[in-house]
Amino acid sequence: CGIVGIVGRAPVAPLIVDALKRLEYRGYDSAGVATIDHGRLGRRRAEGKLVNLEKRLGEEPLDGTIGIGHTRWATHGVPNETNAHPHFSNDVAIVHNGIIENFAELRSSLIADGYEFASQTDTEVVAHLVSRELAKGLGPVEAAHNALKQLEGAFALAIMFRGDEDMIIGARNGPPLAVGHGEGEMYLGSDAIALAPFTNAITYLEDGDWAVVRRGGMEIFDIEGKPVDRKRQQSIGSS
Ligand code: GLU
Repeated sequence: CGIVGIVGRAPVAPLIVDALKRLEYRGYDSAGVATIDHGRLGRRRAEGKLVNLEKRLGEEPLDGTIGIGHTRWATHGVPNETNAHPHFSNDVAIVHNGIIENFAELRSSLIADGYEFASQTDTEVVAHLVSRELAKGLGPVEAAHNALKQLEGAFALAIMFRGDEDMIIGARNGPPLAVGHGEGEMYLGSDAIALAPFTNAITYLEDGDWAVVRRGGMEIFDIEGKPVDRKRQQSIGSS
C-alpha cells in the first residue's frame, strides 16, 4: 500500500503510476489515480496489478499537472474498483493508507447530514468530512485541518481540491509520509524510494503533522495548527 502526490508541470498521471510501481514491494490489491485538469476532477481505478490501471489510463488518459495516486491493501470493503482509492466527495479527492478507527460513528453522522457513500471503505468518511467542513464555508486548508481533528486511528492521507490546482494536503499519523522538494514541482510519497526518480530532497512528516504542499514550497503544521520545523534531508542513494 502506498501514496503518491505531485503538483508538477507536466501531465502527472504517468509519473504517479511510475512512482506507485516503486511502492509495489509493500503489497496491494488495487490501485488508482486522480488528477485535476482545468477544473475537472477525474480518476481511473483498477482492481489487481498496476498494469490494469495503466491499461485503463491507456484507454482513457487523464491530463492534469496535479494528481494523487494510491495502491490499496483493503482493510474495510472488498478489493474492487468501487472501493479503490481515490475517493471523492463533491470537490474533494482523497487517498489513504491505514485505518480510520472511528469511521462508523463518523459515517452515521455524515449519512444523517445527507452524504451518500459510494464505497464500503473507512476512507470515504474522510472525503465527506472535508466536504462537510467546506460546506460550512471554510477554505480548503481550514476544512482539511478541522476534518483531521475528528479522525482517530492510523493514517497517511493526501487530499486535493477541485478549486485549487496548486495544492495537495498531506497528513500523517502512523504510516509514513514524506514531502519531496523539486524545482517548481513538489511531491508527496510514502517513502523516499517512491520519490527517487524526482528528487532526493525529502522532508519526513512526524506523527500528527500535516503539510500544505504547493509548487512553490510547503508548510508543515501540528494537529493544533501551529507551524512546525522539520529538517530537509538528502535521501540515501542521492548523488
Ligand atoms: N483502510 C483503507 C481501505 O480499506 C486503506 C487501506 C490501505 O492502507 O491501503 O480502503
